[in-house]
Amino acid sequence: MALSEEKIFEIQERLKGLSPEEQQKKLNEILRELSPEELQDITQQNCLFCEISNKKIDAKTVYEDGIVMAVLDINPANKGHILIFPKKHHQFLFQVSDTETEHLFKIINKLSLAIINGLNAEGNNIFIANGQIAGQNSPHIVIHLIPRFKDDKIDFKWIPKKINEEEMLSIANLIRVNLDTAKQVKVNKQKSLDYDEEERVA
Ligand SMILES: [Zn+2]
Repeated sequence: MALSEEKIFEIQERLKGLSPEEQQKKLNEILRELSPEELQDITQQNCLFCEISNKKIDAKTVYEDGIVMAVLDINPANKGHILIFPKKHHQFLFQVSDTETEHLFKIINKLSLAIINGLNAEGNNIFIANGQIAGQNSPHIVIHLIPRFKDDKIDFKWIPKKINEEEMLSIANLIRVNLDTAKQVKVNKQKSLDYDEEERVA
């Protein structure tokens, strides 16, 4: 583990005598000072999905191999709602290696067909949230596979925004020139992508 006992002691010392509000502020400051490895260590501890893959927490497993695991969601959007995740701890899908991603989607396709054939689903949604703002509520990337049935009252609709031609061209260009850096997140962006510890669901 990258976060040493001395470092933990130092953090505790810096929080001594502060009010809960001041402690929260100080902790946010300290978190910003930590290295990516130290942050990874902190988030990996008590990670529900790492604990499921390490068999420390029971789950209704529907598929497992050396790379991925798929379990039933205990708070499903519909019956047969499956959570699929890489066993290795990654916060975002873009951090997962190409080989793991390829395998992950191969398994998602198999499960997608299994819920159609096995549960008589008429279709399914594959939902991925990268970042808290997108609805990510776990420090471990998870892919939701949701079987769909007629009149199941699940709604993924949004109101389309108006974007003019000039803006469209500029947006397309910004995306194209950033394709080579797709596996790295700029440090300032990483912060806003982080999930909120308090909103994490068990
Ligand atoms: Zn994890």
